[in-house]
Amino acid sequence: MKTLNTHKSPVIRCPHCGAEYLPGEIYMPGSIIGQPDEVVRDCLGKIIYEDYYKETREPSMVERFTCEYCDKPFVVEATVTYKSKEEEPEKDFSSKYVSLLD
Ligand SMILES: [Zn+2]
Repeated sequence: MKTLNTHKSPVIRCPHCGAEYLPGEIYMPGSIIGQPDEVVRDCLGKIIYEDYYKETREPSMVERFTCEYCDKPFVVEATVTYKSKEEEPEKDFSSKYVSLLD
């Protein structure tokens, strides 16, 4: 049991009554990022084909939910962004910590 009101998870509020939900209560696990069945890339790593097991495994950013407190439906739209960057060289200590012993 976590301490009250110290969570840092994003909270989704019912637009009707203000009841709060965590994303994991509204979204099915994996529904936001999807679960690809088959991904085909060309020789340069560019994705040229993608397929999902079922429609439910495709990324779904919009979810319909009925509030458990006021019993009114509302729509939740997730915004997910991904960033990729090269690792910073100074954070890679794997070769700098080799010490030579006499
Ligand atoms: Zn509500």
